[in-house]
Amino acid sequence: MNKAESERLAARFEELGYTAAQSAGEADLVVLNSCVVRLSAEERVVNKLYDLRHLKKEKPGIVLALTGCLVDSDTARLKKRFPHVDYFFKAGDSPPWLEKTAGLLLPPRPAPSAYVTISQGCDNFCSYCIVPYRRGRERSRPFAEIVCEAQELVRRGAKEIILLGQNVDSYGRDLAGKPDLADLLSELNGIEGLARLRFLTNHPKDMSHKLIKAIANLDKVCEQINLPVQAGSDEILKAMSRGYTVDRYRRLVAEIHENVPGIAITTDVIVGFPGEGEARFGETLDLLSAIKFATVHVAAYSPRPGTAAARDLPDDVPPGVKKARLAEVERLQESIQAADNARLVGGTIEILVEGRKNGKWYGRTRADKLVFFSSDLDCLGRLVGVRIEKASAWSLQGVIKTENNIQEEQ
Ligand code: SF4
Repeated sequence: MNKAESERLAARFEELGYTAAQSAGEADLVVLNSCVVRLSAEERVVNKLYDLRHLKKEKPGIVLALTGCLVDSDTARLKKRFPHVDYFFKAGDSPPWLEKTAGLLLPPRPAPSAYVTISQGCDNFCSYCIVPYRRGRERSRPFAEIVCEAQELVRRGAKEIILLGQNVDSYGRDLAGKPDLADLLSELNGIEGLARLRFLTNHPKDMSHKLIKAIANLDKVCEQINLPVQAGSDEILKAMSRGYTVDRYRRLVAEIHENVPGIAITTDVIVGFPGEGEARFGETLDLLSAIKFATVHVAAYSPRPGTAAARDLPDDVPPGVKKARLAEVERLQESIQAADNARLVGGTIEILVEGRKNGKWYGRTRADKLVFFSSDLDCLGRLVGVRIEKASAWSLQGVIKTENNIQEEQ
């Protein structure tokens, strides 16, 4: 979400004629987009803000702005704490000086893959999460506004749209007529020139049969889904206030696999949550081994002041144990991903090319696997066929098969 908002802001600044500086020292304007989902992230932003005090002293003309989750309604308190910061604006809002000058210049070309936010905030109050307190209750963007933005992005060259929300499965509940994510995907699927659609993040308690059918039936919706499980123990899920059991999660995954064969399911896991003894951690490992997720984002639990878990549950798993469990999940997942990627060697897969790194083009498959290949042609934003020759747990390497088509077009 923050990455999408940073990109949106950067694009608006480019519209106004700004160009990116190499460092804060060279900039006329510095905007910090803060994340406070973990305490360490919040501390990093605060330290950075204190560092910028020196810069403001050396260069009094520099404009400093802060956005993201650190900015709540009490901007007076923030101004007192960080008097050197010129502007504070909430996540998803636009800074006042940007509003005044909006629309004067032509918008820049978007990346092949563009993010579109469909809702802000969250109503779930998972016991460990600060998001509902900082980003507020869920607000869905109007259906027509999202469709319009997606059409415009595609008109300007985007090939893939990634819909974003803290919980995309509850999209539209607060709108007239209650359109849902499946309706939105079905509308966007009709945009000419759009090749791929993705969306994140899903919530297992809210994902509907209708959405699963939509993924199966709409040709542009990629066979990939992010479905955070967080833990493999019912007691821990209850303490997290996640609103589902392991059995419900397993049945949901089975239904998805049944309807969309070959789909890549990714997940998020928190290790070391209060009360997670060896046996309960073992249940998480069992679940990961059984489902064999395409990717697992794993984090060690750290209490966020202001959340129910920080208030009511003792942080009783020692840091060393959390670290060891995190490493164990990563080891297990690495072997699962290595085996999953190895079976792709020899096959040809469609890649949407997103950029160039270390002399090679890179892009992603519909299942969101990262693929590298070489070509002297301009492949950016193109859908190319790549024959996979090498695989590791993290990426694939291959040879382009559609070079002739590109040459003819160019
Ligand atoms: S669903 Fe839970 S973890 Fe996700 S943003 Fe909402 S409260 Fe946080």
